[in-house]
Amino acid sequence: MPKCAKQKRLDHTKSHSKSFIFKNLIHCGVCGCLIGSAQKKGKYVYLNCNHYKGNCNQKEVNENVVLPQVEKAIEAISIPDEYSRNFG
Ligand SMILES: [Zn+2]
Repeated sequence: MPKCAKQKRLDHTKSHSKSFIFKNLIHCGVCGCLIGSAQKKGKYVYLNCNHYKGNCNQKEVNENVVLPQVEKAIEAISIPDEYSRNFG
């Protein structure tokens, strides 16, 4: 006989579901491997090299150190007016 679907409980630890938006976009400056993220103490997000190549001594970095650089880079790649006009 069919089971009733259990009502999903709301997850009280929703901070765990926070994902790093630049996942798979940032590479290690030392070895070029992808940078992953890990949450510590419930609120700090640290980024660290996946050490896939095994010869990297890059240490974990607080995302607050990296995010301003990313924002700067995104500003730098905004599309100038002259390009968008070509498709108008
Ligand atoms: Zn690395």
